[in-house]
Amino acid sequence: MIPGETPGFREQARAWLEEALRGEFAAARGLGGPGREHEGHDLRLAWERHLGAHGWTCLGWPGRYGGRAASLADQMAFHEEYARADAPARVGHIGETLVGPTVLEFGSEEQKERFLPPIRRGEELWCQGYSEPDAGSDLAAVRTSARLEGGEWVVTGQKVWTSLAHVADWCFVLCRTEPGSRRHHGLSYLLVPMRGPGVTVRPITQLTGTSEFNEVFFDGARTAAGNVLGAPGDGWRVAMATLRHERGASTLGQQLGFRRELAAVIETARRTGAADDPVLRDRLVRAWLELEVMRLNALRMLGPDQGPEASIAKLYWSEWHRRLGELAQAVQGKAGLVKAGLVGELNELQRLYLFSRADTIYAGSSEIQRNIIAERTLGLPR
Ligand SMILES: Cc1cc2nc3c(=O)[nH]c(=O)nc-3n(C[C@H](O)[C@H](O)[C@H](O)COP(=O)(O)OP(=O)(O)OC[C@H]3O[C@@H](n4cnc5c(N)ncnc54)[C@H](O)[C@@H]3O)c2cc1C
Repeated sequence: MIPGETPGFREQARAWLEEALRGEFAAARGLGGPGREHEGHDLRLAWERHLGAHGWTCLGWPGRYGGRAASLADQMAFHEEYARADAPARVGHIGETLVGPTVLEFGSEEQKERFLPPIRRGEELWCQGYSEPDAGSDLAAVRTSARLEGGEWVVTGQKVWTSLAHVADWCFVLCRTEPGSRRHHGLSYLLVPMRGPGVTVRPITQLTGTSEFNEVFFDGARTAAGNVLGAPGDGWRVAMATLRHERGASTLGQQLGFRRELAAVIETARRTGAADDPVLRDRLVRAWLELEVMRLNALRMLGPDQGPEASIAKLYWSEWHRRLGELAQAVQGKAGLVKAGLVGELNELQRLYLFSRADTIYAGSSEIQRNIIAERTLGLPR
């Protein structure tokens, strides 16, 4: 039990999940997740809507937008039960954890009424249009632009690495709306429909052989003048708020998944004899200890403050997970170098290894997190 958890809440969640994952959703168990987003998308979308219909999405949102105003402790308890039940990876997580909280923080009442309910019900999926070919870590260099024309924003430019754009209905796009403006000034945070004319999505194949992120081309794509979050020109502040959500509380739920992966690594180490190797044993124990530290840190962070702490959490979990991927390869021995089966499918540990290379890049690379911690927490010079 997590400190502050509502008595009985966890049990209620557990019972509901157990029941719901029988019957038509039994086949959805364990589907999806990093490197496996292609698995069972339609079934997982139906699951998302089933969750929403029964009030198990967006738990932390206020009641008037369909949430339960659940405490962080209760949200974490739900995430733990969700992972324990082996429920499928959520298809609506970008809406629930990134743009939803940002709409709650910066949106007008009208925007909240328009955008929050379809996210909560699993009816509209979102993607994040920040990175561009020449603006990744240096996000203030974005060049995608938009101008107002006939009561609509007209958007032109290119985004890249846009996760799940191929299934998204909407994209939150950081773009330049004041011609000639520089860096953080003159940017706006637009909400742009993905299915209209002027939007082209091209998948990018990843190391895992699957394709979860995309290039997105906006060529005169349109969105209503009112679909700007925060004031026009104030998009940088809004965009940074989204990043705090991405690096912070939304990662609380992933730790049971990590625990399960570590268990699979340990199990393989026993089977292959790697667990008898003193150096690998040491690495396994260290991975276990550090995962405990991660959980204690997450509990310590159960508060509203998501400043540099969010960067500490992001740096810690992503570096840990990448090392776990390397360990997953090491315990397999030579077999880890060979794809399984005639079709050359990756096994779970190979996939873990390959996809975890991305963890220290997305949501801000490790170097960028270290810069933030150095400057804002430790007060070191730039
Ligand atoms: C799996 C995955 C999913 C992603 N999903 C999305 C998404 O949905 N939407 C989206 O907008 N983006 C997404 N991204 C993009 C991600 O945010 C960027 O890749 C990331 O911000 C780094 O930018 P970049 O790739 O342009 O690298 P660069 O910024 O070119 O960085 C290259 C290297 O230089 C280092 N570096 C750069 N600047 C500094 C500095 N000031 N100090 C020290 N080192 C520095 C970096 O750490 C890195 O090692 C995703 C990326 C991945 C891998």
